[in-house]
Amino acid sequence: MSPNPTDLTFYYAVWQKKCWKCKRDITVAINVEGWSFVPGGVGELWRQEMPDWLLKYLRSLGANIHYRKTSMVKEGYYANVCPYCNAVQGDWFLNEELINYLYEEKPQNFKIVEIRKEGIVRQFNSVREADAYYNRAK
Ligand SMILES: [Zn+2]
Repeated sequence: MSPNPTDLTFYYAVWQKKCWKCKRDITVAINVEGWSFVPGGVGELWRQEMPDWLLKYLRSLGANIHYRKTSMVKEGYYANVCPYCNAVQGDWFLNEELINYLYEEKPQNFKIVEIRKEGIVRQFNSVREADAYYNRAK
């Protein structure tokens, strides 16, 4: 892997959803690098490495992320886990859900954050807002 400027900058979508299993409201966070509305980077599902500080920030936003082995990803990855029933909210399904947010102008309980070690640098309330900010010069 070659180093690039985005190595120290992470982009995440964070939103509230119902756990697929117990139906309670939970917060999930998914890496959105590689999506056109944020700069650079290549998206990574089933992320197996995550800096401690990043994990800490995402947890402070309410996302209950833990390393889990699943039937689909036997070696394990940093997954969103329901804090109530312990069910893994699969990355694949969360990405599918994210697609629904692409055209929503005012999504509820949804945000996109740009995170660096110093903290959250920017925050947007919708994909459109992020897109307008990052892609306005194009
Ligand atoms: Zn649950």
